[in-house]
Amino acid sequence: MTELPFHYQKGELYCESMPVDSIAEDVGTPFYLYSYGHLVERVKTLKQAFSEVNFQTHFAAKANSNISVLRILALEGCGMDVVSAGEIFRCIRAGADPSSIVFAGVGKQEWEMRYALELGIGCFNIESEAELELLGAVAKDMGKRAPIAVRVNPDVDPKTHPYISTGLKKSKFGLTPEKAKALYKRAMEMDSIEIVGIHCHIGSQITTVSPFRDAVERVIALVVELRKEGITIRDLDMGGGLGIRYKHETPPTPFELAEAVVPMVKEIGLNLHMEPGRWISGNCGALITKVLFEKRGETKNFLVVDAAMNDLARPSLYGAYHSIMASPLREGDGDVWDVVGPICESGDFLAQERELPPVKPGDLLAVCSAGAYGFTMSSNYNSRCRVPEVLVKGEGYWLIREREEFEDLVRGERIPPFLLEEEE
Ligand SMILES: *Cc1c(COP(=O)(O)O)cnc(C)c1O
Repeated sequence: MTELPFHYQKGELYCESMPVDSIAEDVGTPFYLYSYGHLVERVKTLKQAFSEVNFQTHFAAKANSNISVLRILALEGCGMDVVSAGEIFRCIRAGADPSSIVFAGVGKQEWEMRYALELGIGCFNIESEAELELLGAVAKDMGKRAPIAVRVNPDVDPKTHPYISTGLKKSKFGLTPEKAKALYKRAMEMDSIEIVGIHCHIGSQITTVSPFRDAVERVIALVVELRKEGITIRDLDMGGGLGIRYKHETPPTPFELAEAVVPMVKEIGLNLHMEPGRWISGNCGALITKVLFEKRGETKNFLVVDAAMNDLARPSLYGAYHSIMASPLREGDGDVWDVVGPICESGDFLAQERELPPVKPGDLLAVCSAGAYGFTMSSNYNSRCRVPEVLVKGEGYWLIREREEFEDLVRGERIPPFLLEEEE
């Protein structure tokens, strides 16, 4: 658990040098809690691991798009990887350099392309021929040249959850090397398109080196072929997907990953780009929730807490495991619990069959490894207000997103006049 920025001092849970209980007293529960130090450390580690090549990280903003988090990373020299114009807006608001932004996604729309071109983003990662044609037309109309990379689907199995596996032939993402080659040729003919890179992203929560090595190998083979056709490429973007430890996983370190791919990248003479989301922010944060009730059933014991699947969807959505730390840490024999929320769905759980130390109503639980795909996947389901986000740095903490209020729940909703007319 040393990867986590949470630890106990005399049975009390701390994030960095800040007792979590005192934050909970101030902001109420539930809330997301992030460690500044952890985020900074992660970016520095990546830089170190890949120092032998010209290297640029782009944080996958979909993992955690709070503008304070994005700003911390941007200040550390991290670029951004986005999948929508809304994410571009957030990155710019956070102070990110537009030229450090790469834009992925199979469904980029014309207005999103215009928005991105106006701001001068670094690269469009192109996923289809139709998208290339549209981007070419939009850029031409604006009198600009759009920088592009083609997303190649190297057909390697990342051996992860099928929902987060994106580099197989059957996937909607990217293009086969053959199709990608044809696209590059077409791009060469377009004055409004500038070829800068080649891109792949094979999946998420990958816990071995070999899928990355295979993917980079295949992408480099294509780069060699393209060179023969007179098509030169500057940047190789190997995507994100590096896994973290949720339970017993032993994902490779960035240093082990670098050992496998850096020699190949050096030999071919490309700049290396990477788009980690989970690896940077996953273990920086926890969802802090309060125990409401114990409910003992005939076959199961339920611990009812005030957070739910709308706050953290991963357990319900992927059956994901998130380790849980209780505060205070009580002595004695614990119990096995299903940790469930108040939502009216049987799939509403944060943990199942989980052994915990003794807990009492009013105690806090930190649902760990929730700094990626946590808040960003949260919703208002069951008309629950979305929870605040809090940043800890040393002995201080800052509210970086307020708790929603009831008015936020109905913001923008309208009742048509005919429903308001008095009956005669
Ligand atoms: C989601 C995504 C990432 C980040 O994935 P992680 O597993 O969080 O590292 C990177 N690049 C692209 C194109 C993505 O869609």
